Amino acid sequence: MTCQETQRKIMSFIDRRLSKAETQGFIEHVSSCSECMDELEINYIMTAAMRELDEGVEGETDFKKALLEELDERYEELELENERINLLLIAVFALMLVGLFAFFFWFFF
Ligand SMILES: [Zn+2]
Repeated sequence: MTCQETQRKIMSFIDRRLSKAETQGFIEHVSSCSECMDELEINYIMTAAMRELDEGVEGETDFKKALLEELDERYEELELENERINLLLIAVFALMLVGLFAFFFWFFF
C-alpha cells in the first residue's frame, strides 16, 4: 500500500469501515512509515477528542496510547483469524487425503 492510499484510508480505518485485507495492509504500512503514522495519530486524536466532547466526558485519555493499543489489538485479531483459516484448510486437505486413500483401498482391494 502506498502512502497516498494509506492516508486516504485513515478515516475509514478509524471508523472500522475497511475490509480485513485493507485493515491488515493499513496497519502494516503505518507500522513502518512514520509519516502515515503521524497522520493517523492526528486524525485519531481529533476524532477521539471530538467523541469525548460529544459524550461530555472530561478526557484524560491518553489517545496516543489508545491508538497504539488499538493497532496492536486489531492486528492480532486479524492474525488469529488467518491462523484459524489456515488450520481449517489443513483439516480439509487432510480429510480429502483420508477420503482418497479410503476410496483407493475400496477400489483396489
Ligand atoms: Zn506512508
